[in-house]
Amino acid sequence: MMVMTVDAVIAGLGIAGARVASILSKAGLKVKAYDPDTSYRKPCGEAVPINEYTERIVNRYTVYRTLIKKFEVIVDGQTVYEEEFGDPIWYIIDKTRLVSALRKEAEDHGAEIYYEPFKQESSTGRTITIDARGPFSERAKETVPVYRIIYRPQVKWPRDRVLVEFDTRKLGFYWIFPSNPRENTVNAGGGFYGISKQSLLPKTVDLYVHEKTGIDEIYSKAASLVRIKPAIRLWNDDGTLNVGEAAGFLMSITGEGIRPGLLSADYLAASILDNLGDFGGIRNSYRRRTAGLVKETELSSKLFEVVEKTVIGERREILSNVPKGFWRKYFKAKLTLGTIILSVLKEPSRGLRLLPYLFKSF
Ligand SMILES: Cc1cc2nc3c(=O)[nH]c(=O)nc-3n(C[C@H](O)[C@H](O)[C@H](O)COP(=O)(O)OP(=O)(O)OC[C@H]3O[C@@H](n4cnc5c(N)ncnc54)[C@H](O)[C@@H]3O)c2cc1C
Repeated sequence: MMVMTVDAVIAGLGIAGARVASILSKAGLKVKAYDPDTSYRKPCGEAVPINEYTERIVNRYTVYRTLIKKFEVIVDGQTVYEEEFGDPIWYIIDKTRLVSALRKEAEDHGAEIYYEPFKQESSTGRTITIDARGPFSERAKETVPVYRIIYRPQVKWPRDRVLVEFDTRKLGFYWIFPSNPRENTVNAGGGFYGISKQSLLPKTVDLYVHEKTGIDEIYSKAASLVRIKPAIRLWNDDGTLNVGEAAGFLMSITGEGIRPGLLSADYLAASILDNLGDFGGIRNSYRRRTAGLVKETELSSKLFEVVEKTVIGERREILSNVPKGFWRKYFKAKLTLGTIILSVLKEPSRGLRLLPYLFKSF
């Protein structure tokens, strides 16, 4: 294998950082990476929409847990959307296993991993520094805490069903997903804009799951952060490149960050490998490759803003009148302005009530 005279220093070995480390080290770059945690353990819903790309990843690293095809959305106690798709549209994955596999691949290709926090190293002319610290990046300002519980419920939870529930007094949602169906464990949690007190959030979510499913046995409880309405920033003034959630790739209305993290890692790695030694070329290529993902992320932030700008009654009006076609694309991670307009036109009795709110933000 050809060894190139370029080093990459990566801060953070979560989804995005570990993926970049694996690709760059495999291509022969000298990679050094830093992460304080020897074992990735950030809590997550671990839901990933199924498409050709995610199918490849899930199969390659055998991180599949279950497939989801039944969806229910509840708003203030009322079911507003319920659908069973013919084919599954989500994976539930084992994310810790995926990150471990990517880290191991990087190490096997010669990457040096230091289990300690990243300290800014001075850049030399041939070193590429990458910030992949996700919501923990010092540049990630707009974060909210999200709390997750893995537990065995008192009722059996179907292996192919998820529930998303809004209580419009709060801005955010609860979820209940299957976790490991063989053990009948469930992954449930919630995150709300404005509920930043760590103690209040666990209490709110605990109460919710007790009421919804009851709890037989708890396996883990933990909170972490997501960035809401993140500003996309692909690089910084000091020349550092950002990837994953550190770059702002997080879908605000769903909280989805795994697919965007992996994709942005692939785009960054390809841009580096196509433009070795040419920093301007790397940036241009990275900007071009991420254009679609940036558009998707910004649309998600805009839609979040539509709901954010409302008062409680309006919020219920909006969420209760979301057309079925919108929810379909929402869960499939295929929302575009075009698909939103189409879903409104197809179900005008619901959709037209949303237009005044959409006009306010777009
Ligand atoms: C509770 C919860 C539920 C979620 N559910 C889903 C879901 O169902 N589906 C989905 O797609 N997304 C979900 N997300 C979002 C998703 O988890 C993230 O967007 C995704 O992990 C981002 O990947 P990343 O690699 O950019 O950052 P991360 O995965 O956060 O990785 C960042 C890494 O940086 C490391 N780090 C921190 N500080 C330092 C430091 N000083 N120096 C070096 N390294 C450091 C951390 O240890 C970590 O390994 C959820 C998030 C939360 C919090």
